[in-house]
Amino acid sequence: MEKLLDVLLLGRVRFHDLSMRGRVVLSQLPLNLTMLLVCLIAVIADPEIFGNPGFLIAQGWALALLVVAAAVPWDRLPYGWFLVMPVLDFYPVGLLRYSTESTLPGLGLLAVFPIMWLAGSGYRPRIMVSFGGIAALLMVWVPLFLGGRATPHELAANLVVPFMLLAIGVGTSVMTLSGMAQQQRVQELPERAETRERLLDTVLDTVDVGVLVLDDHGENTYLNAKERQLYMAALPAGSSTTNEAELLIYWEGRDELVPPEQRPLERVLNGETIEHEVYQLGRGPEARTVSISGRQFVDAAGNKAGTVLASTDVTEVVAAVRARDKFLAAMSHEFRTPLTNILGYAELLHDDPSLSPAAKSDLQIMARNARHLNHMVDDILLSSVTGSDAPLLRRPLDLSELAQEAVASARAEATSRGIEVEVTVDGPLPVMGDRTGLVRILDNLLSNALKYSDSGTHVTLATCKDDDWAVCSVNDEGLGIAPEDLKRVFTRFQRSDAAVRSGIPGTGLGLALAKEVAELHDGRLDVTSVVGVGSVFTLRLPLRKTHADLPRA
Ligand code: ADP
Repeated sequence: MEKLLDVLLLGRVRFHDLSMRGRVVLSQLPLNLTMLLVCLIAVIADPEIFGNPGFLIAQGWALALLVVAAAVPWDRLPYGWFLVMPVLDFYPVGLLRYSTESTLPGLGLLAVFPIMWLAGSGYRPRIMVSFGGIAALLMVWVPLFLGGRATPHELAANLVVPFMLLAIGVGTSVMTLSGMAQQQRVQELPERAETRERLLDTVLDTVDVGVLVLDDHGENTYLNAKERQLYMAALPAGSSTTNEAELLIYWEGRDELVPPEQRPLERVLNGETIEHEVYQLGRGPEARTVSISGRQFVDAAGNKAGTVLASTDVTEVVAAVRARDKFLAAMSHEFRTPLTNILGYAELLHDDPSLSPAAKSDLQIMARNARHLNHMVDDILLSSVTGSDAPLLRRPLDLSELAQEAVASARAEATSRGIEVEVTVDGPLPVMGDRTGLVRILDNLLSNALKYSDSGTHVTLATCKDDDWAVCSVNDEGLGIAPEDLKRVFTRFQRSDAAVRSGIPGTGLGLALAKEVAELHDGRLDVTSVVGVGSVFTLRLPLRKTHADLPRA
């Protein structure tokens, strides 16, 4: 009862939180209260009505229905049985209407209560609304038939009320159904959110990537199992610090701690986005090498919502790369001495006047191949040292001059292959650079152009100025590079299928190293190529500002 009053007066308890009995009583009550009001009105308007048996029976019947509503254990009956009540309500309303038609007209509209109950219950809505409409029709027509007044005119004139009630029923049903659908969606939302959360948790704990999430105040909100493991590796021995600045985070390959303000988390919290930066966590056998990426994320309104840091354990990969480089360095070093010997003795022998021309020609082939081998060993050796912090010896150079020298030294090779090499320079191109590095790039581009071209073709090396860039392009009419190989042409040890098939020797290192050296000079190395037509490799280096370029005071 208390709850009923609360629903009616305060609205703190929701209708659907009541027991079934409470709900039935509450749905029945409006009719009874209105009928009570009718009694009060009748006292003033027409006291004689209390002598009308129809009026009294209708009031008694309505009261009896309220008692039934309160007495029946609706919760124990099958769902839907409570709809007997609005159906039965049509009887007292019909009787009331019939008995007071002349003194208090319009009481038939009280049928709005049962019809709204039927339509608003949400149970079999179409059937219930139709049922309510029929009941309303019977309510007005039955008295006509019983009173012998069922003329077509009377029947039609009395249709207004049932139609009105039917329309109210349909409207109520539509609103109820859409409300129910919305409620269902609202109920499903938390369920869906929880399922998503569980999925995310499972994914994050399954993947082999450490994930750390911080809220917009920089507080830890999520740490997956892998991240916890990496965090433990960075903890100083015997410490359980939660202070990021005290964690052992080293620069990769150096024995130096990263200063607190340069640590990845600190930088990301300050709004920086970092990608695949490699650090070492901890020292000793437990140390881990990690590649860290991180960024901030925003909420739906575009405000900063937090920070995510993802760490991939690359300890084994880095160790494998180191082992490979060590092996390559050792191997190429061991190859050099015997090769230098072979080349030296081949040159000595070549000058021997007693050698026949045929033997000299064989010797030349041997020497050429030994030189080739030497070149490859050089590449391998260089590849194992570039990427280390070997400093560049930059000094003022002229790219056009370097290009002319490169063509001059490749001319002999070109002639022997039957390829014509041309060089066109557009005046001096001052750059700051490492002579050995730049000569190596140009030699590599030229030797590739010759290596991957047939005799009778042309190779052109051209230099020019392009805004603030010194540009040198090497153009050939050779094999060309297929689009799928073009993407990997600057990747170490990658060789095109065509190059491998044609048996042209190579290591797949030259271009990768050339690009690295170009980038160390703040420059670029690009390629365009069409299979069967040829390739153009373009080296761009920043032009050195000379005195003539400087603004005059
Ligand atoms: P290498 O020539 O020793 O194999 P590079 O790194 O110099 O290694 O070149 C990588 C690959 O790119 C080559 O194997 C070849 O497939 C392709 N390539 C390079 N230059 C040219 C060129 N001028 N024409 C056609 N293919 C080329």
